[in-house]
Amino acid sequence: MNYQEMKSDALGFVSSHLAEWRSKGLDRSHLSLEPVSHDKTGCHVICNGQKKLLLSSNNYLCLANDPRVVQAARDAIGKYGVGTGGSRLTSGTLPVHINLEKQISSFFRCESSLLFSSGYMANAGVIPAICGHGDTIFSDSLNHASIIDGCRLSKANVVVYRHNDMEDLEQCLLKWRSEFTSVGNTIGQHHGLIVSDAVFSMDGDIVNLPIIYKLAKHYNTPLMLDEAHSFGVLGPSGRGISEHFSNNGYPDLKADITIGTLSKTFGSDGGFVCGTHDLVSWVKNSARSHIFSTASGAGNVAGAAMAMQILASEQWRVAKLAQNISFFCSELVKYGIQANSQSAIIPIIIGDEQKTVNIAQELFESGMIVSAIRYPSVARGKARLRITLSCNHTKTDLDWAAWQIANTLYGYHQKIS
Ligand SMILES: *Cc1c(COP(=O)(O)O)cnc(C)c1O
Repeated sequence: MNYQEMKSDALGFVSSHLAEWRSKGLDRSHLSLEPVSHDKTGCHVICNGQKKLLLSSNNYLCLANDPRVVQAARDAIGKYGVGTGGSRLTSGTLPVHINLEKQISSFFRCESSLLFSSGYMANAGVIPAICGHGDTIFSDSLNHASIIDGCRLSKANVVVYRHNDMEDLEQCLLKWRSEFTSVGNTIGQHHGLIVSDAVFSMDGDIVNLPIIYKLAKHYNTPLMLDEAHSFGVLGPSGRGISEHFSNNGYPDLKADITIGTLSKTFGSDGGFVCGTHDLVSWVKNSARSHIFSTASGAGNVAGAAMAMQILASEQWRVAKLAQNISFFCSELVKYGIQANSQSAIIPIIIGDEQKTVNIAQELFESGMIVSAIRYPSVARGKARLRITLSCNHTKTDLDWAAWQIANTLYGYHQKIS
């Protein structure tokens, strides 16, 4: 038998899937972006040799390239090396991990916290650690993919309620409670969990915390919120959704379990969970994505710690981001484009996938990078431009971007104000 001459098309199905995917305008590829030298704002990049305004980064407070953050990462790598060579529970824990966990607990005012290698891993690990077969998870229909995957891994029953619809959530909770009592079960044996993004990652809207909190208390079900897009963005000091509502007349509404990421506002990478001592100790002992994955490198951890320190002392960044959001939305509205976001995420819904890609491409050619978000990130037929702002965008940048977007969408040449 000559192995060289044996032919098979065992992976032919992959090529067919890909061809079909491409024909629907769903194919994506990686843009390679380089920094602009001497540009300290972090808002411009070089792509294919041309300078572009970046309107699609989650580096909301421009801390990823802050010289103090970069220096802290360098120092830590100099001292500890690049990789940790072990999981946290074996030999991968360094003083920088312990210190950052203390800093997170203190900054976000919780008893304890635990780092993961990413926000994705935090959700994929925490949810199965606290829910299993027979338990019921109530999950918002627009929750982030990492929450969805965490729910699937848990093998619990998953009840998906309509997006941010608290009446629907209450109906689901009522039904769950009555089913349990009708078969003689007690809810005590099997528990529930309500899980939601705090700021929804593709729509930029905010969870109805006062009501979801009340429902969680009323049905004695823990509440888990993912603050990936609210830390550093919501609340006057960037402490997130609780601070936002506290500032609007609802003090002390805290989730039982909070997930955060170091990859957005904190300009690094990694994720974390915050909660009580017992919750965190349990997660440490049972979350598989924590146990079976190598601890984050010292540079990223120390960089995130410095970014958190800067956030604590430079609240102007949060205020400036909020100003940019309201300015940019009002500019879009002047051009007749619906935009009303309280978060740094501003979606412009187009619908058709291919059309969205074409518009994003035109905008790219005009000098800006805006994401064309399509299935599977959002539902089919709900494709959109997704714009994210940072504290270092200037009025001139945003004024131009809004004009250019309107011009591309509708061919407007003049403000209709
Ligand atoms: C980005 C994001 C995550 C994942 O965080 P990473 O640190 O990038 O893995 C989790 N949840 C939400 C809501 C997100 O937007």
